[in-house]
Amino acid sequence: MTKRELSAGDIIESRCTKCREVLNHRIVAMVEGKVVRVECNTCNGVHNYHAPPVAKDPKAPKKAAVSKPRSASAAPRVSRKDPTEVEREEWASLQPTFDPEKALPYDMNGRFLTKRLVLHPAFGLGIVKTVTVPNKMQVLFKDGIKLLRCNYL
Ligand SMILES: [Zn+2]
Repeated sequence: MTKRELSAGDIIESRCTKCREVLNHRIVAMVEGKVVRVECNTCNGVHNYHAPPVAKDPKAPKKAAVSKPRSASAAPRVSRKDPTEVEREEWASLQPTFDPEKALPYDMNGRFLTKRLVLHPAFGLGIVKTVTVPNKMQVLFKDGIKLLRCNYL
């Protein structure tokens, strides 16, 4: 079946507005290659061309809305960690580097420097985070950071 260009006078399938069926129609008028008016072969009524429904074509592309999978992991998880827990984890990560033999026994009159390992009788091993002039230091222990007295000067 060769497809040729339609022209006035050709027979074409169209939905007839009077017969309410898809029937053969004779092309009456065309505009820019498109059929505009047809004459029904059955009732001889002349009306605008109505293309027959293309439901027969199973290949007709359906514009079905493709549901996009929502990326649930897109939202960044807000870490609501207890600061003390963060400190404990930091201590745990540093713990393997601790050399207990180099730890200075804590003494409130002692002189401590940052990153110095301290052995506290109650808190255990800790590492000096910051020393605040004149006599306070933050030491990271297993249970978190403690503010201890020291003799900086
Ligand atoms: Zn008709």
